[in-house]
Amino acid sequence: MKDDIILLKQGEIVLKGQNRREFEAKLINNIRRRLEPYGKFNVYALQSTVYVEPKGDSDMEGALEAAKCIFGAFTVTRAAACEKDKDAILETAVSYLETQLKTVSTFKVESKRADKRFPMGSIELSQYVGGQLHDRFPNLKPDMHNPELTVHIEIRDFAAYVHGPAIRGAGGLPIGVGGRMVTLLSGGIDSPVASHMIAKRGVQLIPVHFYSHPYTSVLAKEKVIKLAGILTRYCGRLRVELVPFTKIQEQIREHCPEGLITVLMRRFMMRIAERIAVDNACTALVTGDNLGQVASQTAQALAVTEECVNIPIFRPLIALDKRDIIDIARMIDTYETSILPYEDCCTVFTPRRPRTKPKLEEILEAEAKLDIDALVEEAVMSTERIVV
Ligand code: ATP
Ligand code: MG
Repeated sequence: MKDDIILLKQGEIVLKGQNRREFEAKLINNIRRRLEPYGKFNVYALQSTVYVEPKGDSDMEGALEAAKCIFGAFTVTRAAACEKDKDAILETAVSYLETQLKTVSTFKVESKRADKRFPMGSIELSQYVGGQLHDRFPNLKPDMHNPELTVHIEIRDFAAYVHGPAIRGAGGLPIGVGGRMVTLLSGGIDSPVASHMIAKRGVQLIPVHFYSHPYTSVLAKEKVIKLAGILTRYCGRLRVELVPFTKIQEQIREHCPEGLITVLMRRFMMRIAERIAVDNACTALVTGDNLGQVASQTAQALAVTEECVNIPIFRPLIALDKRDIIDIARMIDTYETSILPYEDCCTVFTPRRPRTKPKLEEILEAEAKLDIDALVEEAVMSTERIVV
């Protein structure tokens, strides 16, 4: 019997009735793939828990860290497996949790008995193991209400498991159950957070980035690839689409009123993103827009921006405060990269006085001077793909 395993408890998945099997299969598949770099594992689910058993030499610390980022798991725990025998369980608790048992002053034992053939009831087992631990560790006092350490025992079908407190997992739903979407990833703080939030709902993302070489540097592009790299901890492998945007921006600047530049650029981004979405069977676009943050994010500007496409646009940050967005960016580890000072394609072409309430008629009039289809087609055709 392998004596060290990882347990992932499913959260919302369990509520999904008929789809539950499919959800669970996705979760198991995602875990298998994401833990590949850390060794060989046997991954299977029983009673809403996923078991990750190492086959031979594995990096369990690395696997545990990776497991904490996998959507669909609400808690993650490293546990010791042992024979389903009260004394084997006791000895396992003593050796596996020795450091904690020696350092805390209050504790309790909590047992769950999924295998009803086990001869002791769960209360009886907790009392037995608790009593023995109390005898062996003179520093320990039982505390049923607010213990510093809870020793968990689970009697399952094939083994008993002993573990300390569970760690909070990534939550959400397994990637893939929510289909696929295109996310517009700039180098800023907001769009990686928006991407993370949508991915967390089980969506596989295709990040699209618009760049304006030579106005923006190679470093700006590398920054976005680095951000996508951080997102892979949660999303798994990502294919980033890099769209050259310079020609479109120059055409807009040359032929259209300055105050409308930003909204016109956004409309082109939406059109191109929609094309990529359709080509890849994606059901929606995702942006990091946030109401009132900048001129292009007033209700009127957003309405005019989305008018040119037929695909739903999801904006998960729409009502958050910047500080709340920053908190999430820190939590998911994108913040430090996002604040690196490379200019974005939009900042290079920012009008001095952007219009906050653009009217659709003026926009359409301005766009009449451009060959929209040809510009979109050319950008899509010149798109470069990088797997991160
Ligand atoms: P962010 O921090 O995400 O850059 P922002 O506050 O700078 O957001 P804007 O620059 O107005 O806001 O962009 C709004 C949204 O449009 C971004 O969150 C992103 O989804 C999309 N977007 C902007 N610029 C780009 C770009 N160069 N490539 C891809 N998407 C972009
Ligand atoms: Mg930006």
